[in-house]
Amino acid sequence: MAIERIYMDWNATAPLLDEARAAMMAALMLSGNPSSVHSEGRSARSLVEKSRRQVAALVGASAQNVVFTSCATEAANTVLSPRYKMGRSVLSFGTLYVSAIEHPAVRMGGRFERVVEIPVLKTGILDLAALEMLLADHPAEHGLPMVAVMLANNETGVIQPVADVAALVHAKGGVLVVDAVQAAGRMPVDIEALDADFLIISAHKLGGPKGVGALIARGEMLMPEPLIRGGGQEKGHRGGTENLCAIAGFGAASEYAINDLINRNLRIRTLRDQMEAGMRNAAEDLVIHGEVAERIGNTTFFTLPGLKAETGQIAFDLEGVALSAGAACSSGKVGQSHVLTAMGLDAGVGGLRISIGPATTQADVDAVVRVFAKIAARRQHSGQAA
Ligand code: PLP
Repeated sequence: MAIERIYMDWNATAPLLDEARAAMMAALMLSGNPSSVHSEGRSARSLVEKSRRQVAALVGASAQNVVFTSCATEAANTVLSPRYKMGRSVLSFGTLYVSAIEHPAVRMGGRFERVVEIPVLKTGILDLAALEMLLADHPAEHGLPMVAVMLANNETGVIQPVADVAALVHAKGGVLVVDAVQAAGRMPVDIEALDADFLIISAHKLGGPKGVGALIARGEMLMPEPLIRGGGQEKGHRGGTENLCAIAGFGAASEYAINDLINRNLRIRTLRDQMEAGMRNAAEDLVIHGEVAERIGNTTFFTLPGLKAETGQIAFDLEGVALSAGAACSSGKVGQSHVLTAMGLDAGVGGLRISIGPATTQADVDAVVRVFAKIAARRQHSGQAA
């Protein structure tokens, strides 16, 4: 008999919501190109604009400042540009400062040649004093500084002090880009309250389809040189006919996400906390990374001494539990987690990440705790788990 699967890898990707699927099916029935002026085209356009409003509402932005892209990685590569336009003037950025725990989509630096890492503390929180020093030494003759910091880390879930970062960056006349991919839908996100200049988000982390993201600007004046040029779509910020079906799914998922956000995430956090308590009960030496910091409520990144991440991942998989060893984007090869390294932790055996979502049940977390206890006990008996 096949074992029932328990999906605990929502930070890698969230299962498609029924609401998103329905919106996508309806969008598939539309035949027009959103840029066409005839009735068919206008119907498609109206769906794109509806989705734009839904996505904007998720992060407290104006719909006119949302640019749809093919994924958050594309949004990052668009926004991380040394060349910007502000009205008719051209603005140059000399150095990109990125936190050491950024997702590779941002950490690779987009179109910048000079990328400097901002260290994080042992807690997994960005070192604000170090950022202040880096900005004080910023060579002004190279152009303005640009800083990219994520709101919630994809591995630890640790929430970053974005508004404090914004104050430092703006005092230097710089621009702040915030990767809100893991935060959107999992905590309130408001571009104004964060004081961010740009946000990037991705549909598939909130129950929308894979392969659609957005670059969201706070105002409409300052925009990067486009990465993809073409027929002037997205007000010239991203060429190419819009992926209508995916954009419709993104809009529906965003609307679902803001609806009852607080209560839904409270329920998820309660399950996660119960799960962590159960795991610790089964293995006192369990280390939960970023535990002392504020975290999004769905994520547990842990190390069990003596259990290698790859071995643990396979052991959980054999018991029917899907989780990941660190970030999933380069899945297949489990490398050293750059997040743990940045936190100054000896990541010798690596870490395992459990991430849950709205469909996770009490029975799921109870089962995961039982599997965890079994794996932990085996490890204690043999010194190394199965
Ligand atoms: N940023 C973070 C924090 C992520 O977790 C991910 C995906 O895992 C991305 C960016 C990239 O998103 P996408 O898959 O839409 O390119």
